[in-house]
Amino acid sequence: MTLAHKIALVPTLEQETYFRKACGTARFAYNWGLARWNELYAAKEKPSAFSIKKELNSIKSEQFPWMYEVTKCAPEAALADLGAAFRNYFRDRNKKTGKHAKRPTFKKKGRCRDSFYVSNDQFVIEGKRIRLPHIGFVAMRESLRFEGRILGAAVCREADRWFVAVQVDVEEEPVKRKNQAPVGIDLGVLHAATLSTGRYYDAPRSLARNLRKLRRLSRRLSRRQKGGRNREKAKMRLARLHCRIANIRHDWTHKLTTNLTRRYGVIAMEDLAVGNLMQGRHLSRAIAGVGFGEMRRQIVYKAPRHGGCVVFVDRFFPSSKLCRQCESKNNALTLADRTFVCPVCNHTEDRDLHASRNILSEGQRIIRTTQGPWGSDACGQMAATKRTRFASRLVEAGRAQAHGKTPEESSRRTHV
Ligand SMILES: [Zn+2]
Repeated sequence: MTLAHKIALVPTLEQETYFRKACGTARFAYNWGLARWNELYAAKEKPSAFSIKKELNSIKSEQFPWMYEVTKCAPEAALADLGAAFRNYFRDRNKKTGKHAKRPTFKKKGRCRDSFYVSNDQFVIEGKRIRLPHIGFVAMRESLRFEGRILGAAVCREADRWFVAVQVDVEEEPVKRKNQAPVGIDLGVLHAATLSTGRYYDAPRSLARNLRKLRRLSRRLSRRQKGGRNREKAKMRLARLHCRIANIRHDWTHKLTTNLTRRYGVIAMEDLAVGNLMQGRHLSRAIAGVGFGEMRRQIVYKAPRHGGCVVFVDRFFPSSKLCRQCESKNNALTLADRTFVCPVCNHTEDRDLHASRNILSEGQRIIRTTQGPWGSDACGQMAATKRTRFASRLVEAGRAQAHGKTPEESSRRTHV
């Protein structure tokens, strides 16, 4: 399993200048490669990341000698990224997979994330410092936490701070867990997450609290003269605030997902597709400022590491409208109703809590009824990869059951 540990750097002024230069070189190589690619494509030739890299290497010493001032990985990895971007674009265009990777576009200075890549033979980590080509040791805020084979590293900038993300291939060990307690999670606006155990998790108010400040800083930026020094200063202050808001949110999300995956063996949650978040009742969730897609991603990769598994309930499963006691559907329930009251049996419960308990029982039903090599012992002692595969089977099964089909039939159709 590949994990990345992102560590803040404390570069000297000289080192920071080098970072900026390397980022600039990576961006230049990407843009140069893209322009070349478009030219060749227009001339009915078939360019590839490999052929373009070869071409750049042959003219580098004559036309762009300054490229030698930074690590050779910077332009190389940028061209590899370009190749991957084209691969994704052609894959989605030809196969109609439902995903829509866009055609690569030129990177503009100051618009995109600044970063460059360093391959594992080019750097060494010793405790709380990293040795990079040309500039020697750069201090890190903490030492590398993961053990395993180091695959590579990316140095990137966020506002005025620099980070290194070290990719490590971590050994997978089958985890034996004693506690198989299941839990259902309902994601919402009022409470970001409601557990079937009755616990509520609220999103940090960082966004709302900082929104006024954000507005003020954007206004200040728009009033500064273009190209002026004060505009640069205002821009950096705004970027720093954006980072701060995002960091508070990331911190909260990571703590929540770690907590959940450590504590529960089976986690049942709604299968929210990020694309669908922008529709109907999910719209409000998207603007609530909590990254539900990110939360889901973290739970999916963290659960197997702690010996647990995730089961997704179909997104059309009426988790909030179905009565938990008599199973009748309460269609009159609106978003404004905070309490669920069943018109048939009079069952009354908090809306979110009721939904999370419905999600839990639906998840357990899916696990019980899914036939397969792993049977009903859903999350016994299996290796992480096996467990991930099992979880994806459960997703398929959940979808199929919601539509009255077998898993095999379901895997053939795509969700719109
Ligand atoms: Zn009822």
